[in-house]
Parts: sequence; structure tokens; C-alpha cells
Amino acid sequence: MADTKQYDVIVIGAGPGGMTAAMYASRANLSVLMLDRGIYGGNLNNTAEIANYTGFKSIKGPELAQQMYDGATQFGAEYAYGTVTKVELVDNMKKITTDMDETYLAKTVVIATGSDQRHLNVPGEEEFGGRGVSYCAVCDGAFFKNKHLIVVGGGDAAVEEGVYLTQLASKVTVLVRRDELRAEPIIQAEAMNNDKLEFVFNTSVTEIVGDDVKVTGVKTHNNKTGEDGEMTADGVFIYVGNFPMTSAFKNLGILDDQGWVKTDERMRTSEPGIFAIGDVRDTPLRQVATAVGDGAIAGQQVYQYIKSMD
Ligand code: NAP
Repeated sequence: MADTKQYDVIVIGAGPGGMTAAMYASRANLSVLMLDRGIYGGNLNNTAEIANYTGFKSIKGPELAQQMYDGATQFGAEYAYGTVTKVELVDNMKKITTDMDETYLAKTVVIATGSDQRHLNVPGEEEFGGRGVSYCAVCDGAFFKNKHLIVVGGGDAAVEEGVYLTQLASKVTVLVRRDELRAEPIIQAEAMNNDKLEFVFNTSVTEIVGDDVKVTGVKTHNNKTGEDGEMTADGVFIYVGNFPMTSAFKNLGILDDQGWVKTDERMRTSEPGIFAIGDVRDTPLRQVATAVGDGAIAGQQVYQYIKSMD
């Protein structure tokens, strides 16, 4: 096992919130490590365009991720790869273990692990993963030029990414399980004006079907009439909501009954020295802007907490 490195602050998750917390804490001259299970940026990397983050009329998610990373590291914050599997309390410190068999010690921890995309959990979904089933339009959309695509879901993500896919596909059909969308009105309005996008309401996907090579369509169920049907398509993009990435923190007693982290307005959890920010929090709004705001508060709060330890 490698040596245990020690930091003032370990930020778990390098999305917009985590990178902001890291920037504020390192600007306060604290030693900071961001740990992430993948490349920095979090869900920004799956987002084609962001049109509601102040200061940018519109910006591509991966481009914003890079700018945030450059900003976060300019004051000395470090970044390392690793999925955190456990956080333990050891005397006055927090001990963090990753799946890379690394351990770290920190005076404070900022949980910024966000949320991951839910799966539909229907037959064929796993089997055709990477062969027509996708959870990321910006990553996989280019494989479907001039093809017919199905998007499943009715929230902001399904509608926005459906609109993005119309730039590539010949037609995009959004299957919505209820008779209305959950997406914001302004996002709906843009979609309704798009000739290449159609909505089919009251329709659930019961199976994803394909041949030996790839997806050929879906089986559907009409939730109003009870009728079963089929629809052909070359790809299926699934945007049916998110779940919190908190399995590593269950032992800390800081989660609500749905697994989101409970905090106060200073981003403090019930465990002193452990903070949580962004989408992983029990919060009424999950946006880049709110994650960044949470990150700024936490970056300043860790400084106050460490000062109070002396
Ligand atoms: P969401 O808001 O939770 O919406 C999930 C959608 O999927 C709902 O329409 C839901 O239907 C549907 N759904 C859930 N389970 C399903 C199933 N088994 N089969 C078919 N449909 C199913 O999730 P999201 O769109 O991924 O957004 C997640 C968060 O990120 C939200 O807070 C959202 O505001 C935010 N976000 C914001 C933006 C933006 O501001 N531009 C962009 C993307 C995401 P019901 O309505 O029937 O439950």
C-alpha cells in the first residue's frame, strides 16, 4: 500500500461544485486534493450545451469543465483519480480509502459526488449497452448521423439532449411515460419548435430489442390505453433521472432516507468537518449555478473549521 498523504481538505468529486470548493479552499492557502472516479467535470462532460449558467450565453459542457479545472488548480489544488469507497473518522481526522487501495488523511472532507443517471432496468438495456443504448448524447450522438433515435424521459435532460440529437439524427422521438413533460417551459418551447423532434406521450419502454449487432427498436406500453406496441429506431438514449452517489458515506449517518446528503445552509453535515455540496445534497435545485454557489460556501467554511481546530 502506498504512503498515506495528508491534506487540509479532500474534495470527493471534481464536478462544478467540487472544483469551486477546491478553488476557494486553495486560495485560502489550504492544501487541497480533488479525488474523482473519472475525468474532472462530472456531468458537464455529458452535457452538450449549457445555456443557463451566468456569464455564458451558451457553452459546451466539456469546455466549461476545462475552464473550471484550470481555475481550480491555479492556486495549487491537486487532482487524483480514484473511486472513494470509505470515509472513516480517525481521532480528529478523516481517513479516505479508494478502490486504488490508496488511503488519505484530511482535516475536512467536502462530498461533491453528485448523482448518476438512472437506468430503465428493462430487458435489452444492458445487453445493447454501447450497441445503440446510450446515456450520453454528447459522447455517442455522432455515431447516429441521419438515423432515427428514441429518447426516453420527460425532464430537462431528456428534452435538451433530444434537441441536441436533432442536429445529428434524421428524427428524434421522445417517449414520455405520462401525458406531460417535467422539463422547464423554456426548454419545452424550444423543443416544440423543432421539426425533427416528436413527442409520444403516455408511453413506457418495456424492452429494448435488436439483432446480433445492434439496437433495432423498442417495445412499448401505452399507459392510458393499455396497448402494447413496437417502434423501430437505430439508437435509444435514456434520460430518466438521477440517483445520489453516496454508497461510500452510508456509515456516517449523514444521508436522508433516499440517500441524498443532508446539510445546513453552510453546507455542514451532521458530522463535524464533513461538508456536502451540489447535486448530492438534499436540495430543491440541481444546476451548475447552484453547485458552484454551494462550492464557494463550502470552500470558505472548511477554512473556518480548520481555523477553529487550532
Ligand atoms: P428528472 O428531472 O428527474 O426527470 C426524469 C424524467 O424521466 C421525468 O420525466 C420522469 O417521468 C422520467 N422517468 C423516470 N423514470 C422513468 C421510467 N422508468 N421510464 C420512463 N420515464 C421515466 O431528471 P433529469 O431530466 O435527468 O434532470 C435531473 C436534474 O438535473 C433535475 O434537477 C434537472 O432540473 C437538472 N437538469 C437541468 C438542466 C437545465 O437546467 N438545463 C438540464 C439537465 C438537467 P415523471 O415526470 O413521470 O416522473
